[in-house]
Amino acid sequence: MAPPVPDKPVPDNLVSQTWEKPFFRPDNIPDAADVVIIGGGIVGVSTAYFLAKAGIKVVLCEKGHIAGEQSGRNWGWVRKQCRDARELPMMIDSMNIWTSLEKDLGEDVGFRRTGCIYAAKSEKELANYEDWLKTARHFGLDTRLLNAAELKTHIHGASENWPGALHTPSDGRAEPHLAAPAIARAAIRAGATILTTCAVRGMEQSAGRVSGVITEYGTIKAQQVLCAGGAWTSLFCRFHGIRLPQLKVKGTVARTEKLEKIFDGELYGGGLGLRRRHDGGYTVASESYMNHSITPSTFRYALKFLPAFIEEFKHLHLTIGSDFFDELSIPVRWPMDTPSPFERTRVLNPDPDEDNLNVMQKAFARLFPAYPDVKFAESWAGMIETTPDAVPVICESEKIPGFYIATGFSGHGFGIGPGAGKAIAGMISGQVGGIDLSPFQLKRYFDGSKIILNQRI
Ligand SMILES: Cc1cc2nc3c(=O)[nH]c(=O)nc-3n(C[C@H](O)[C@H](O)[C@H](O)COP(=O)(O)OP(=O)(O)OC[C@H]3O[C@@H](n4cnc5c(N)ncnc54)[C@H](O)[C@@H]3O)c2cc1C
Repeated sequence: MAPPVPDKPVPDNLVSQTWEKPFFRPDNIPDAADVVIIGGGIVGVSTAYFLAKAGIKVVLCEKGHIAGEQSGRNWGWVRKQCRDARELPMMIDSMNIWTSLEKDLGEDVGFRRTGCIYAAKSEKELANYEDWLKTARHFGLDTRLLNAAELKTHIHGASENWPGALHTPSDGRAEPHLAAPAIARAAIRAGATILTTCAVRGMEQSAGRVSGVITEYGTIKAQQVLCAGGAWTSLFCRFHGIRLPQLKVKGTVARTEKLEKIFDGELYGGGLGLRRRHDGGYTVASESYMNHSITPSTFRYALKFLPAFIEEFKHLHLTIGSDFFDELSIPVRWPMDTPSPFERTRVLNPDPDEDNLNVMQKAFARLFPAYPDVKFAESWAGMIETTPDAVPVICESEKIPGFYIATGFSGHGFGIGPGAGKAIAGMISGQVGGIDLSPFQLKRYFDGSKIILNQRI
């Protein structure tokens, strides 16, 4: 079976056109807003969307392009399966939002509930997945175990003899390069102002609280500011004397051209993470290849990250190179009237790892022998930002009242993004959102609390 010819040519820069485009500075910026959001990833735009719908005057500042960093580069998995129990209430809410999102946005962002499958390499791994069923049941999820025969009915032509799998049929997928830009457009229609090519250099404070942001084009007064700056949040917080342990890992991703349907939804197995795309291809990545380039932050936060390093050691590829010196060259303080580190890197655009791409290509051919010469139509990489317990920080700063932080989604913030945006909008506007945000306080890293990874029920 040879791959069929695509119905129509897929643009060879389909995904990267999210960030490979010119920067246009805004014509003007507002003097004031109720809330300023820093960062135009899925978390920032979703928060802007819900705040604007609540009638709150919100301005979002993005230094580069909407979804130019993690939110446009991820695998596109929208899953509840195997999530940390602390995130599940927000994720369940997020799933409900995704379900009606396209109708609300008036745009197709590729969201489909096509299920998530984690294929087990061994009986031991299957038993570990089985243990997660307790958590699934606690939250009323439809997760179940598939036996080997059932799994074959979902995945066609795989060479592996997996003993079984964990499956959540109600999990979904969406297209990252479409979703956040569509949410941003809906936020604008609801009344939000979205400024791109507009870095925030720092914040102003008066009377012991935040009073505005200083952008590269001037000041916007606001009594409430949210930093949803992804991989840049720790640096931004550090400038303001707030310690936020956060490190970066690089993930390499590729997409195939349109192929015959091997399976729908997402699959973790055979050394790969795979997702059926809206265009009929597959998004491909290594199951657990993580590249951490050692930087001064690695040493700064090493103790906090020790449990994560131990847990992920076998998947972690540690390197040291120019990133170390690049980070070392970033000043701790910078003046507000000259370009800040945020303007110097408008879009964090790491190179995909060629060795990893080769490994992925071979693994795909091995797993699906019908595609011995699968070609990647496009490849890219993204910097995943992570916290010590791989669970986000969502809270108001104890040091600067009126300053809120939402970051550290640790490689799984796309699916939860709309739900997080709704919960954050509730936190900022003081409207009760029904989601308990207490597990996401920054202070948990400093008050002696144990750092817990993969919390289950
Ligand atoms: C390779 C990869 C695979 C992933 N796979 C999945 C997946 O399948 N499912 C899933 O749920 N999640 C996945 N994730 C994680 C997910 O993409 C992120 O958790 C999520 O996109 C984070 O969204 P965000 O809005 O917090 O951050 P980002 O999308 O990183 O956005 C932050 C934005 O803030 C801007 N910014 C920062 N500082 C400033 C400043 N001072 N002024 C103005 N703008 C600023 C940046 O330019 C950036 O655009 C993956 C991530 C990667 C990289």
